[in-house]
This record gives sequence, structure tokens and C-alpha cells, in this order.
Amino acid sequence: MNTEDFRPEKEVKVFYPPQRVLMGPGPSDTHPRVLNAMARPTLGHLDPVFTEMMEEIKGLMRYAFQTKNRMTFPVSGPGSVGMEMCFVNMIEPGDKVIVCSNGVFGGRMIENVERHGGVAVAVHDKWGEPVDPQKVEDALKKNPDTKIIAFVHAETSTGASSDAKTLCELAHKHNCMTIVDTVTSLGGTPIKVDEWGIDAIYSGSQKCLSCPPGLSPVSFSDRVTELVKNRKTKVHSWFMDIGLLLNYWGSAARTYHHTAPTNALYALHESLLMLAEEGLEHSWARHRNNYEALKDGFATLGMNYVVAEQYRLPQLNSVFVPAGVDEKEVRRRLLAEYSLEIGAGLGDFAGKVWRFGLMGTSSRIDKVIFCLTALEAVLS
Ligand code: PLP
Repeated sequence: MNTEDFRPEKEVKVFYPPQRVLMGPGPSDTHPRVLNAMARPTLGHLDPVFTEMMEEIKGLMRYAFQTKNRMTFPVSGPGSVGMEMCFVNMIEPGDKVIVCSNGVFGGRMIENVERHGGVAVAVHDKWGEPVDPQKVEDALKKNPDTKIIAFVHAETSTGASSDAKTLCELAHKHNCMTIVDTVTSLGGTPIKVDEWGIDAIYSGSQKCLSCPPGLSPVSFSDRVTELVKNRKTKVHSWFMDIGLLLNYWGSAARTYHHTAPTNALYALHESLLMLAEEGLEHSWARHRNNYEALKDGFATLGMNYVVAEQYRLPQLNSVFVPAGVDEKEVRRRLLAEYSLEIGAGLGDFAGKVWRFGLMGTSSRIDKVIFCLTALEAVLS
């Protein structure tokens, strides 16, 4: 055997991805400004110019999350790493966690609790419905030893939004901490970490922030720092241990923890800067206005929403596939003929539902019109 024997069998050329319009559940389209930012020269992760930019990212993230939390930084990894980071740091074996489950990602939270040795008390709601605070209160009364309440603010698998403020109030009333998934909500719908008293929150770069996938913005209250400091057992992950990570993200001294994805962080910096330039209120209003336009178009096409109007996420629109339509074929044709990506249903909704994302840069009126025109043509 020589080195040539290990070459790929098929000739490999430079990869040029097609230009798609991404209107599924994420990733959303990356803004050209963000793509350009990524292409700037790579810096070392301890370069003083880079570390100065890291501080700006933290400041911009505090704005996006509406918090003064010192521990606000992006984790090198997708939203699932942000999720796991919350659970692995905050749970010790035997800890009881109420997990609200009304879709795929609530289910993933239950997995996390159990894998980290916690006891998950699942509060189920029907897919397409929000988390019912009354059920959570009932579970709290039955389980007074609950330490944490975890829930998904914006359930991407269904398009339902839950009332984060009320759920956090319940947690406070019962002396519990909160873990909140805002992967699909950050930048698209209001999130007020300090006002609502959220303890641990995570998101993803690839949805309403319109940044490529692979980074997870997180923020932790001082109560979480205290909790982690006073753990009886070591955090069961080296990479995600907040205490260790803060030597890099948290302290002025900045010591090596892992090689941060510097170019990806330039992208996040740019996308957060764009959000700050637009202003949160404007971004939320833009997501809502484009949803209204899409909703009107769906009504004309006779398509029905899965989620009741008052609980709908403007950035994630789940609609039932019309009777007699081959849903896979429609998605295939949209991609092949219009270079338009929409999402299929997940889990219980597989084959029955389409998911249309209007997230970040994909939330624009011209894209709404393009999407409706393409859909009408394919369905006719
Ligand atoms: N939570 C929610 C609500 C999501 O929508 C997603 C991804 O779509 C995740 C968590 C996981 O994020 P990632 O796929 O970036 O790991």
C-alpha cells in the first residue's frame, strides 16, 4: 500500500454550494455581511485584538438576551451543546427536574436530565399546544423537592410559543431555578432574561440571528454560578464545565481552554451587531409583519395552521399538508425547481406537516412572496 491507495475513489473538486433560499426550521439564510465577516483573516484565540472582540460579543449578547448577567458568552458548539451545558452543570445525581414537553426539544431535555443522573418529572402537553402553566403548578405541588423547571420557549418542531414569563414566575414561587431553550426565539420574539428572572438560557446561532450553525449563545445568573461552585460532585463534562470555560470567556487573564472557532465568532459578532443596529423591537416587529403576510398567503391557498393563532411563533409556521398531496414531492420540487428549502414535520408530525421558517435574514417580504409563489405553482 502507498499513500495513493488512500485517495477517495471518486474525483473530488472544489465544493461550490448552490444558492438556496432557506425557509425551513433552520438554518436560515446567512446575511452576506456575516459571510464576509467569516472570511476575514484567522486570528489566534488569545490574540489581544480577538479577545477585545470577545468582550464586544458578550456585550452584544447581553443586549440580545436583555440581561446584565456577567456569565453571557457563546459556547463552541450547536444549540444542543448549549442545552447540555445547562443540564450538566446544574444537575447533580438525584436532582429532580420538571421538564415541560410539547415537542421534540422538550423530549431532548428529558434525555439530558436522565443522562446526567437527574430525575425528570415530565409534564406533557399536546404537540402544537403551549406548555400549560396549570399542569406545571400541579406537578410542583406533587413534587415539592423539585430543583429546576426546564422548558422550550419556542418549540421548533411545532411552531408553538410558551409563556416564559409565567413559567418563570411559577418557578420563583416554588423556589426553583429555570433552564430555558430559546434556540428559535432569540432575536425573533421577545426574551427578557433579567425581567423574567431566567437562570440559565441557551440559543443557537443559525435561526433568528442568521449566522451559520455551530455556536450556542448562553447566559447564566449569579445563582447558577453559586450552584455550580457548591456542587458536591465534579461536573460530568470537562469541555462544558462552566468553571473551567470561564478561565477563557470570563476572566481578564484569559487562559487556554480550547481553541475557539475564531472565524465563526467573527460571524456571530457581525450578526449580533446587525441585530443591535436594527434594534430588538424592530426585529421582533419585522418577524411578526412577515408572518402576517405569510399567513394571508396560506389562507388564500387554503392551508391551515397547526397552532392556534394566539400561540403561534411568527418565525416558525407549521401548516397541515393538504389532503392528497405528496408532501415529500412538494419539498423535492421546491428545492429542485426553486432552490427553496422548507421543513418537513418531525416525530408525530412527520408526513403531515410542513414547517416554514421566517427567521432572521429569511424573514423578508420578498422571500415571503417568493415562497408563496413557488408553493402555489408546485401545488397547482
Ligand atoms: N432546541 C430547539 C428549540 C431547536 O430548534 C434546536 C434545533 O433546531 C435545538 C434545540 C438544537 O440545536 P442544534 O441543532 O443547533 O444542536
